Amino acid sequence: MIHVDHLTKIVGEDRTRVLDDISLEIQHGEMIALVGPSGSGKSTLLKCLAMRETWSEGSFRVGDTDILKSGFSGKRKISREWSFLEQSPQLHPERTALKTVLIGQSGQTPVWRMLTGMVRSDDYMGAMDILETLGLLDKAHQKAGTLSGGERQRVAIARALAHGAKVVLADEPVTGLDPKSGEEVIKTLRALCTSERLTVIAVIPLELAERYATRIIGLQDGRISFDINGRRLTSAERRLL
Ligand code: ADP
Ligand code: MG
Repeated sequence: MIHVDHLTKIVGEDRTRVLDDISLEIQHGEMIALVGPSGSGKSTLLKCLAMRETWSEGSFRVGDTDILKSGFSGKRKISREWSFLEQSPQLHPERTALKTVLIGQSGQTPVWRMLTGMVRSDDYMGAMDILETLGLLDKAHQKAGTLSGGERQRVAIARALAHGAKVVLADEPVTGLDPKSGEEVIKTLRALCTSERLTVIAVIPLELAERYATRIIGLQDGRISFDINGRRLTSAERRLL
């Protein structure tokens, strides 16, 4: 469903290849962990996939859409169906988890109805369903500013789902969380890949990648150094990190 062919990203006067001939085929429902040393191009790859960075070379197809050639409509497809999860999600601190998710649904529901508080009961039920999926039912009426880091990250995932995200890109979503909360977030993402066919591409620690990812892609100097499914890294692969 997602085809990346020969993605190359060249920057600066010396024309450094931050990404160098990356080709990937990604199916719905995969949970992909990106691993590699600092500076290997992980963040740049995610930003190129999110169309937040320009591509120097390559082609990018999602379903039947050629994203780079279709101009505005291709970018709109990405912005509508793909969600970028920040390391520390920007949530309105005074807004409850429920309201955050309801406003996330505004793709389907007029914003004025959200703001005037006239929430349709099926919107409300939908939002509560999503919060339940993320294990946040008991936090629905708590203000985002008072939630823990892991809970905030899960509210951000809930908001992305409410917005209709089919693909979630996450750059170090668990950095800064304690190990238990970090694991909860990754476990949740993995469960959504399995149950909702969500596709996740995330930069996460190797230990979590080996436990929860369906696929691990290693980057080194902007190139793919390995691309493995459903097994732990060999010691040779581990030395590349
Ligand atoms: P990672 O996330 O794996 O640590 P990054 O994708 O952030 O790596 O960066 C890869 C390399 O590309 C780094 O050396 C970074 O300094 C460089 N880089 C990324 N974007 C630019 C840019 N716009 N101009 C110059 N160098 C860049
Ligand atoms: Mg990075």
